[in-house]
Amino acid sequence: MRGRIFSVEEFGIFDGDGIRTTVFLKGCPLRCSWCHSPEGQRCETEYLRSPNGCLNCGKCLDAGETAIGRRVLCEASIAACPRNLVRVCGEDVTSEELAARVLKNADILRAVGGGVTFSGGEPTMQYDFLMEMLEILEGKVHRAVETTGYIDEDRFARLLGKTDLVLYDLKLMDGTLHKKYTGVDNAVILANYRRMAKSPLRFITRVPLIPGVTDTEENLDAICAFLGENAVSYVELLPYNRLAGSKYKLCGRQYRPDFDETRTVNIDLEKFERHHIKAVRL
Ligand code: SF4
Repeated sequence: MRGRIFSVEEFGIFDGDGIRTTVFLKGCPLRCSWCHSPEGQRCETEYLRSPNGCLNCGKCLDAGETAIGRRVLCEASIAACPRNLVRVCGEDVTSEELAARVLKNADILRAVGGGVTFSGGEPTMQYDFLMEMLEILEGKVHRAVETTGYIDEDRFARLLGKTDLVLYDLKLMDGTLHKKYTGVDNAVILANYRRMAKSPLRFITRVPLIPGVTDTEENLDAICAFLGENAVSYVELLPYNRLAGSKYKLCGRQYRPDFDETRTVNIDLEKFERHHIKAVRL
């Protein structure tokens, strides 16, 4: 089976237990206002152009016109750029190729209690490929999946039986606000979370702290209550990435967050303690 990835990062320490190799799969059904991986949103292969050092000579677009009849970036643009500023984002790999790549460090990862994490984008967008990867790696290395939880419930139930750890993002508890800031409803996300919390599988809840969006009293109160209902006593709080905008230029897009990103995130960690939840800021 073939899948499409946009990065493999080795020796990471924030994507699960120990030291991890993280595989980023292309494609995501959400469009979070604060997304710092816009190059992972679309399923298709894309061509990225760095604006730093660009001569504005147009050779990359000329190459597109010659090769495919449109003034857009394409494979030919990579060689055409005299500054080497164009690159492809999206690599098609077979499950065997990818397994060989991530397993080359398996001994080290095992020795430090680490493993492999599938992230994205939303890795379940390539569900069959992800499931095959998890099967191939079973018993060879610890497997984690980082997910938004926005996935069909039956598919999610099957996924729970195929991985060793889930890193599960909770963003906004209010459905209307969730739709406004991510583009999708949160009903299936909450339903999948409840199912996961009842299962024996280990999981880690993660909340991105977005100024004025997810860090509000109302949202954090609702998250604490939801975690309590599901007997969850540990949560990781992810910082807002203030460099989020830089990658949009690479994709030829503009970063237009619909919140005040200059606002300081200032949350009351004691709120979590009062709910008997240990909150760790990463
Ligand atoms: S070919 Fe390279 S330097 Fe010229 S416009 Fe394109 S990206 Fe810029």
